[in-house]
Amino acid sequence: MNEYPIIKIRAGREWQLKRGHPWLFSGGIATAPKNLTPGALVDLHDADNNFVARGYYNPKTDIAVRVLTRNPAEKIDTAFFRRKVQQAYDLRRLSLNLATTNVFRLLHAEGDFLPGVIADYFAGVIVLQSHTAGIDRLLEPLTAALQEVLQPVAILLRNDVAVRTREGLTREEPRLLSGEIPANLAVKENGYLFAVDPWKGQKTGFFTDQRDKRVALQRYVANLPSGAKMLNCFSYTAGFSVYAAAANPTLQTVNVDQSAGALEIARQNFALNNLTAAAHSYEVADAFKWLEEKGRESERYEVVILDPPAFAKTHREKERALQGYTRLNKLGLPLVKPGGLLITCSCSGSVGLSDFEGSVREAAAALGLNIQMLELFENGLDHPVNLVAPESRYLKVLFCRISQ
Ligand code: SAH
Repeated sequence: MNEYPIIKIRAGREWQLKRGHPWLFSGGIATAPKNLTPGALVDLHDADNNFVARGYYNPKTDIAVRVLTRNPAEKIDTAFFRRKVQQAYDLRRLSLNLATTNVFRLLHAEGDFLPGVIADYFAGVIVLQSHTAGIDRLLEPLTAALQEVLQPVAILLRNDVAVRTREGLTREEPRLLSGEIPANLAVKENGYLFAVDPWKGQKTGFFTDQRDKRVALQRYVANLPSGAKMLNCFSYTAGFSVYAAAANPTLQTVNVDQSAGALEIARQNFALNNLTAAAHSYEVADAFKWLEEKGRESERYEVVILDPPAFAKTHREKERALQGYTRLNKLGLPLVKPGGLLITCSCSGSVGLSDFEGSVREAAAALGLNIQMLELFENGLDHPVNLVAPESRYLKVLFCRISQ
């Protein structure tokens, strides 16, 4: 007898799953047993009743089933999660230097073949997010596996994210699942120290997806003349600025963010890395308004960074998001000194690279500026993309040179 209830896929809707795409939309279901609770484990069978995949089901959302395995012999238990966590950890050990970096995304959901799970590793502390009803029900074997593979000092569950509402789930207060979080937690990225507050920080507390872009930025700023200025908009805890100041100690940075708490940590981060406090300033402000005001003044910067939060969470919001990017870049571009660098980012998953490029192009064209694209970055090594399911390919970062 089959251990898991069977959902039958509509004829012709199984081929993506057979190639390794992890989603079955509700419209692709032919029959499902009644009374399955949200998050129940299920087997997917094709129209000929052959096993296709095993995953979890939520009747309350468009992405009705998310696949955990295509192997009919693989049970979904602690051993399953141990294998997935180990595989993910092995990749990080291979692609990062864990002697100089002890902060990384450990599980990138679909990108690590564990739909619905985000886990970040912060110097021994794991911050976990469950985005789906299926993962909510599998938290026990998942945390047991994390414990076995990583032996973390603590596991914190940060289920205070809005995406949960798409699954009919509530946002929860952060909850400690094991251990204790050390006071004054600091992580090390490429040898630089960053204070992290896993309880209250944005998302899980630190953005590791910009690691490689922060390194790339160092190459440019190292050659800038003494006293050059960098504007870091949506700076959060000043990751880009700390790297830049370390590469060029004469560089002055202005860090703009609406979160006073983030900027307080930014201040600590300069101190943690022995960087001159006087060269760096902080502006608690709405970046759009701030840029608009500064555009009327004469101050210009050798480097301007724009790294806003996601403007579009769903495809429906895409058009508005693109307008937002054009608007933001139109506000940021005039502040770049002629010959200077614009680093412009989009982390909206539903906005593709060419669309984002288009909105930056529009902004430069409307202002009559020449723009050269120098480098292009995407997710980064600890945010892998399942190439069959490119939905997890969300980050786009363009390094551009601006001239008149
Ligand atoms: N560049 C950062 C990550 C940015 S995350 C890094 O490398 O770590 C996005 C940031 O934008 C958050 O810190 C958030 O507080 C800030 N933010 C969101 N909306 C904003 C707005 N309208 N004006 C200024 N900051 C904003």
